[in-house]
Amino acid sequence: MRKPMVAGNWKMHNTLEEARTLIGGIRAGHTSGGKVEVLVCPPFTLLLPLGKDVQGTDIKLGAQNVYCENKGAFTGEIAPPMLKDAGCTHVIIGHSERRHVFGESGDLLHRKVRAAMAAGLDVIYCLGETLDEREGHQTEAVVERQLGEAIADDLDPARVVLAYEPVWAIGTGRTATPDQAQAVQAFLRAKLSGVWGRETSDNLRILYGGSVKPDNAATLMACPDVDGALVGGACLIAESFLAIVGAAANSV
Ligand code: PEP
Repeated sequence: MRKPMVAGNWKMHNTLEEARTLIGGIRAGHTSGGKVEVLVCPPFTLLLPLGKDVQGTDIKLGAQNVYCENKGAFTGEIAPPMLKDAGCTHVIIGHSERRHVFGESGDLLHRKVRAAMAAGLDVIYCLGETLDEREGHQTEAVVERQLGEAIADDLDPARVVLAYEPVWAIGTGRTATPDQAQAVQAFLRAKLSGVWGRETSDNLRILYGGSVKPDNAATLMACPDVDGALVGGACLIAESFLAIVGAAANSV
């Protein structure tokens, strides 16, 4: 049985004061009773203070990005051990904004995944097709390529969570239908089975991300291969984020 995960990607939002209000609201209302793994991924500047705020709760802390080296002359970058030091358990790698806005290549993402895992971080590896690729019937070929770029059999599967995030659904209000999400996520699970074997792939979580809201979370998470959500916009309001966590708890 896979424990669902709901991860909030705060993106480039919130000052410390705003963050404290949001995390306070999440803490106050969070009652999933351990049925859901809950993660908040604020900007780098908030990791240390929020790490303290979530101490003693079952809310975990993740980063939105990381570099692939542990130290050195890489102005503006953050190293995996620094994220560990700040209290992170997870890091998001391969988010579509990193791929498409910042031009991160498959090779760089591959190195980031390895560096993060070597430092003891769990990786939420994002992948998904653009609208043109979907309309050109390339979805499976694209996600298979993206999977192959980062995931290999010598990595520890226990440290991997996948997030299928169709680019056309991120921040657009346009959500994949449950059938669309299920089809791609079942395809990804079959590919993971080719890497690590059936039993391991059956235990791996595959999240859906792309305009998940309180009103669509339950139907998405009712799909057999949707094991939770990576949430952008809706995670910035405590009530919406908690409603999505609640939908995940009810899906178990
Ligand atoms: C995301 O940033 O990963 C995301 C899914 O954003 P949104 O929920 O706003 O589409």
